[in-house]
Amino acid sequence: MMQEAGWLPLLWLLLPIAAYSGWLAARHAQRNRTESRSSRVPPEYFRGLNYLLNEQPDKAIEVFVRMAEVDGDTVETHLALGNLFRRRGEVDRAIRIHQNLIARSSLTREQRLLAMLELGMDYMRSGLLDRAEGLFRELVDTGSHMRQSLDHLLDIYQQERDWHNAIATARRLQATAAAGLDPVLAHFHCELAEESLRARGDDDARKWVQAALEIDPKCVRATLIEAAMEERGGNLRAAIDVYRRVEQQDSDYLPETIIPLQRCHRALGTDASFLDFLSGVVQRHGGIKAQLLRADLVAARNGDEAAMTYLAAELSTRPSVPGINRLLDLIMRRVGDPVRGNLAVVRDAAAQMEQDRPVYRCTHCGFSARLLHWQCPSCKHWNTVKPVHGVEID
Ligand SMILES: [Zn+2]
Repeated sequence: MMQEAGWLPLLWLLLPIAAYSGWLAARHAQRNRTESRSSRVPPEYFRGLNYLLNEQPDKAIEVFVRMAEVDGDTVETHLALGNLFRRRGEVDRAIRIHQNLIARSSLTREQRLLAMLELGMDYMRSGLLDRAEGLFRELVDTGSHMRQSLDHLLDIYQQERDWHNAIATARRLQATAAAGLDPVLAHFHCELAEESLRARGDDDARKWVQAALEIDPKCVRATLIEAAMEERGGNLRAAIDVYRRVEQQDSDYLPETIIPLQRCHRALGTDASFLDFLSGVVQRHGGIKAQLLRADLVAARNGDEAAMTYLAAELSTRPSVPGINRLLDLIMRRVGDPVRGNLAVVRDAAAQMEQDRPVYRCTHCGFSARLLHWQCPSCKHWNTVKPVHGVEID
């Protein structure tokens, strides 16, 4: 889908031709005032520009194609045309135009580098990532269009899951004053940690986790990998300490730690300590998962009546569909027919509502999912897909 603003850079691209044409026209007018101005200024150019301004790219393309045929030397016209074709998804035509441009010997260095950048973007658009990578690397080596080329390279390496090159590129971007990449760099290290876990084992993974936490001490993902390693190794007390760090790092991810913490405490026989932790979490942050688990623990220790009292109080301040469902379950255990039958209908409807709700949602683009993605599959931002665990009744 083409945005209106998407055409604006093209106008900037076309301005030099406009200026040049205007200058030609002025010079010509001085020399021979009797000759018509329109005989020197290509009227097609202004028509093309006008079509662009009026959001009529098809007609603009028609005009520029004719111009390029008549005046084969106008580099800017070809650049504008290639750009238009790429934006319209006609990538093969864009590639041909840019390849032909680069092959010309008459191009200035700047024009050739600009055509290379455009061709790199054509290749990316058509999925020819290797070729795009080659061009962007060449541009970085020449020191021109650095920021754009490095941005594209970072994109390519993430798509290819080439984390070593992604790290090197992000570091170069940081050196060119691109700030805010630390959390992303930490994720690249976590990717390498997970690769190590699959191929080489915990020791190698531990190095990457450590590096991730040094780069971004708030990296929840690194903490979860570390905690899971401790848990698998049977170091349950250490695992509990590591899982609990998440609350300080980013409490949005607390729901990810609740079940593993319950598992560790249960294995150690320290349920009471877990219940204290859970109470604290519910008080400090709310959260459906903690709320429900606490209700279960209260039911196990003090009976259904106490759990119902607890849930009813919680729901009055933090209403949630799963909370209502749990309360209905508890009530249904205590009533006979026909009330139970009627409640079952309500319970089924509420269960459907719970089923339809996303468990995770991207805070940047709204993408919703049933699984946690560290990089949003839709907008490609890192750390933006988060557990949905706030107030849940619309
Ligand atoms: Zn997103």
